[in-house]
Amino acid sequence: MTATSLIDPSTGAPFTAVDFADVEDTDAAVARAVTAQRGWARLSPADRAAGLRSFALAVDGAVEELAQLEARNSGHPISQARWEAGHVRDVLHYYAAAPERLAGSQIPVAGGLDITFHEPIGVVGVITPWNFPMTIASWAFAPALAAGNAVVLKPAEWTPLTSLRLAEIGVAAGLPEHLLQVVPGLGSVVGDRLVTHPDVRKIVFTGSTATGKLIAARAADQLKRVTLELGGKSANIIFADSDLERAAATAPSGVFENAGQDCCARSRILVERRVFDRFLELLEPAVTAVIVGDPFDPATEMGPLVSREHLAKVSGYVPDDSAVAFRGSAPSGDGFWFAPTVLTPARTDRAFREEIFGPVVSVVPFDDEADAIALANATDYGLSGSIWTRDLSRAVRVSRAVESGNLSVNSHSSVRFSTPFGGFKQSGLGRELGPDAPLSFTETKNVFFAIDDAPITDAPEETP
Ligand code: NAD
Repeated sequence: MTATSLIDPSTGAPFTAVDFADVEDTDAAVARAVTAQRGWARLSPADRAAGLRSFALAVDGAVEELAQLEARNSGHPISQARWEAGHVRDVLHYYAAAPERLAGSQIPVAGGLDITFHEPIGVVGVITPWNFPMTIASWAFAPALAAGNAVVLKPAEWTPLTSLRLAEIGVAAGLPEHLLQVVPGLGSVVGDRLVTHPDVRKIVFTGSTATGKLIAARAADQLKRVTLELGGKSANIIFADSDLERAAATAPSGVFENAGQDCCARSRILVERRVFDRFLELLEPAVTAVIVGDPFDPATEMGPLVSREHLAKVSGYVPDDSAVAFRGSAPSGDGFWFAPTVLTPARTDRAFREEIFGPVVSVVPFDDEADAIALANATDYGLSGSIWTRDLSRAVRVSRAVESGNLSVNSHSSVRFSTPFGGFKQSGLGRELGPDAPLSFTETKNVFFAIDDAPITDAPEETP
């Protein structure tokens, strides 16, 4: 274990330290998880459901504590952090209903009885990013536990505190010891050990596309099950027939929420050329109105970036003012502040093509529907996006043509715990959330029971 300082993003100063684990610590956690999982899987579905409900109720009682922790550790505005903690509670409640629904099935076949079981995979390794530490963790651990697995979770280096606290809350609420363990540490040490450990049977990874590719390659040796939730460069497509005032008023929330550190950020605003200038006129006051500042002020809408390193990366996309159309404001001084920034770049510019993961949006004109679709799809990513139009036929056509896992018409909604979430192309592999998520934490086993005295007309089907 090595003590590592954590930095408050709004001041730039260290405020606490956590112990980072090494490979031996990780192996020990996996060994404990193997034992805990066996006991958990033997419980009845009703008992597992009761365990998850108690966990959800305990999280409900800790919403304020978790929110304060996230605001300090990650710089999230307190109002947003409260929503995040409440979302974790809701995800747990939703998947508490799952154990009793994972019922398997009996399929009529000739010559006997055929049963399909959905068995837990075993120990699941969850590797999370720093942008939404607790919500993203819950999307994996809640359905994984519901399906009878144990979880070893490695949070991002900068933001481990809410995950550590959630695991403590789970145990205090009555979850079996070591069923949900949080092991902070480096991705290249703890994360890689989870990916290569033979007793970890599945990895759920959320993070950058580059790391996701590395993890898929490392997991291939054991053909380990992998779910990947990766980067995005989502389009917000605004047609001339839309409610332009509403589209402009809501566009900042579609990209600057969480200071743009959002895989679903609509960081490319595509606007039909004949309303392009008018849209920018409407957008400017909406951007300058965004309240950027102290995460603990309830009025704050946008906090600092997560770290000094990330601030340097985001700043690199706006080296000078030549492409800046306008900016909002941000505090000066210590802390990792970056004002909401609107660019009007060429289609070939780096800022328009690459995921910046900060409060920088590119606004670019398009000519017609075909051009809008081509431009939206001219990226290796395919995670999210919005379409603004009053024409229902166009909304259907365009939403079916855009290569993206999650689209929203006349809104910027991306995530609901009851609907599937994930990416096309290099934005990911597999889906999280929604009713089917627990199934992705199971192996499907089919067993045929031959019955000797089955009627002769029910002879078994021929097998090769
Ligand atoms: P990252 O890839 O740098 O790190 C993510 C996690 O992977 C961290 O916990 C890190 O320690 C770990 N890691 C790093 N190297 C590893 C290795 N070799 N083996 C195992 N684990 C390793 O990503 P980040 O900077 O923390 O997060 C930002 C990225 O995450 C953005 O690209 C964003 O779009 C993406 N993201 C995607 C979603 C989604 O649901 N699709 C959600 C949030 C964030």
